[in-house]
Amino acid sequence: MVAGDYYDILGIPRNADDKEVKKAYRNLARKYHPDVCKEPGAEEKFKQINEAYSVLSDSQKRAQYDNMGHDTFTNASKGSYTGGGGFGNGGFYTDFSGFGDIFDFFGSGYRRTGPQAGADLLMRMTIPLEDAVSGTDREVEVMHTEPCKACDGTGSETKKQNTCPRCGGSGQMRQASSSPFGQFIRMTTCSQCGGRGRIPEISCKTCRGSAHARVKRKVTIHIPPGIESGMRLRMEGYGEAGDYGAPNGDLFIEVYVQTHERFTREGDNLGTYIEISPAQAILGTVVEIETIDKRHIEVKVPPGVQYNTSLRIPGEGIKRRGHPGDLMVRVRIITPRSVSAEERELYQKILEHERKGNGKKGFFSGIMGKKKEKKS
Ligand SMILES: [Zn+2]
Ligand SMILES: [Zn+2]
Repeated sequence: MVAGDYYDILGIPRNADDKEVKKAYRNLARKYHPDVCKEPGAEEKFKQINEAYSVLSDSQKRAQYDNMGHDTFTNASKGSYTGGGGFGNGGFYTDFSGFGDIFDFFGSGYRRTGPQAGADLLMRMTIPLEDAVSGTDREVEVMHTEPCKACDGTGSETKKQNTCPRCGGSGQMRQASSSPFGQFIRMTTCSQCGGRGRIPEISCKTCRGSAHARVKRKVTIHIPPGIESGMRLRMEGYGEAGDYGAPNGDLFIEVYVQTHERFTREGDNLGTYIEISPAQAILGTVVEIETIDKRHIEVKVPPGVQYNTSLRIPGEGIKRRGHPGDLMVRVRIITPRSVSAEERELYQKILEHERKGNGKKGFFSGIMGKKKEKKS
């Protein structure tokens, strides 16, 4: 598929409001609908228009999209499955809405009349900071509903089904009730066939006639670089099984990022520190450090560096595509607790030199205020 910015696809400015989004979508969808447009590539274009609209018309997805940029967003949306195919509608998107409102997802938002969608599931996952820096793929095991293999998803030992006697094959039952205003007809799902309209000839022993099986599946979860604690990834269709004819729920993976003993994180930047001696601070030095992904790089410390100075190493932070963060190396100057006799002599010489004024202004004068002349 040709990657293109969703705003460009719909031909709208980035600040377009909901009305403009809808209007642009309607016009384009009408123009490129495969039934109408016989231009080559129209179907592809139609798909792109729909994809763009599905994101930009949803305020939450749109905010994520604006935040992450096109490539990161669409890459985060590509889930992959291992072990068995046939469940093609899965996908990921990262959910930036934070902790509190996940319960809204499980609440009333999904309620529809008719067959009920399966419940959403929440899984918590802890990853080391290293993995949040460069992104990673994690394999998890989830229980997934699939058609029963023993009966080919018919629920029947013989793989033959009969028309449901209760609903006559419609899967729906009419419930009539009288009231002073007349008769009300309510359609409900048939309780005998569960809406399938057919019942197994002989109930399958493996699935007890339910036609599906809960199986353990290995699923690869793509964790994008830059993920922060509390963010959630969504795997469509990996929640609980829905009613017949209704979709499964989704699986949400809430990611926690562990703290690291040597590196801290601030947005897309990483922080660490080095320790050097007073002599190194005065003369400058080169210190080798190990990056978070275990490479060795050299940090050049300029002469005269001050305590707590941050040295910036570009591109060694969060490996976000396009604009990676930096590594900030703080300098700690460590005063030796004990020195050799020889070192002591040298420091003594430096001190004497400073006392003499060094030919210039005294080193500490002006910093400590006026000094009392005193003989020591
Ligand atoms: Zn029935
Ligand atoms: Zn079965």
